[in-house]
Amino acid sequence: MTLYMLLSYSTFTSTSGKFLGTLLFMLVVACVKQVPDTTQVKVDPVTGTLIREGVPFIMNPYDTHALEESLRLKDKYGFRVAVISMGPPTAEVTLRKAQALGADEAILLSDRAFGGADTLATSMVLTEAIRKLAQQEELAIIVCGRQTIDGDTAQVGPGIASRLGCSQLTLVDRIEEVDVKNKQVKVRRKLEGRHEIVAAPLPAMIAVLREINAPRYPTVPMRLMAEDAAIALWDNKEMKIDEQLIGLKGSVTQVRKIFSPERVKGQILGGEADEPEDIARLLIDRMREKDLLSL
Ligand code: FAD
Repeated sequence: MTLYMLLSYSTFTSTSGKFLGTLLFMLVVACVKQVPDTTQVKVDPVTGTLIREGVPFIMNPYDTHALEESLRLKDKYGFRVAVISMGPPTAEVTLRKAQALGADEAILLSDRAFGGADTLATSMVLTEAIRKLAQQEELAIIVCGRQTIDGDTAQVGPGIASRLGCSQLTLVDRIEEVDVKNKQVKVRRKLEGRHEIVAAPLPAMIAVLREINAPRYPTVPMRLMAEDAAIALWDNKEMKIDEQLIGLKGSVTQVRKIFSPERVKGQILGGEADEPEDIARLLIDRMREKDLLSL
């Protein structure tokens, strides 16, 4: 215990050498998902699950920004960055990329029992992994992307926050500051036509927008180091989550069908009317005809 406390405290200086005081090392967890590098996602018609064979995979684009923001928190405040991903064994490639960029620890959450999860079951596994990490170190911030480019639900980040009972900050396009002493974070949220500055207690889940930063590129030495870096594999023997709460069994929703909506051909109105009032009348008549105005 004493040894851990000694390791946890350190004097911290910025890259310019300026003394920033004594800090408690705190943990930032970046959640990254491996997604298909295509919009043509195919789904098994029988099981309703994703067909992964023959599809190239990448780190979810929003999560490259979540990772970058986590690394900026590390650079600025000395936090330690752990990256977690739930997915098949191939997701290790995504985690290696995160390590090449500067993440301190990478954990792959992979088990057949986790497969076929909806957002409820996915957030369950991610939350339990974060809880496990937080037993070793004080949790400051969880950074998620706004949404993925395959599932697209934007539910997982808020799901983690509500399970943990921590602050939930979505649509964030800037982290203004982290007040480590008072355990508070101030962020800017991008809403429709305006911004909102919000302060919230730590720990906090922050779901970031793409405009928050420009992700860095890995250096060649970092990339080489990441090749040999250890990636921890946590399966359900390690996690010990009730199997009724994870994977297909823990999923309360099922994909019945996935399809691209048919585009209805547009129609240009107004050829026979010149005045705006006449065109508006024409539009209202047409909408009435199609019963689009009734309550
Ligand atoms: P979002 O909520 O859009 O993601 C937000 C952020 O959460 C991400 O930017 C990232 O930071 C984090 N995050 C999300 N997922 C992960 C992850 N796995 N690891 C780390 N961080 C993550 N998929 C299947 O393969 N098989 C299925 O049977 C299946 N059934 C589904 C049923 C339903 C009804 C739905 C909605 C989805 C289903 N999916 C299935 C997709 C799967 O549930 C989602 O991929 C997963 O729950 C994440 O949701 P999302 O992609 O919408 O993430």
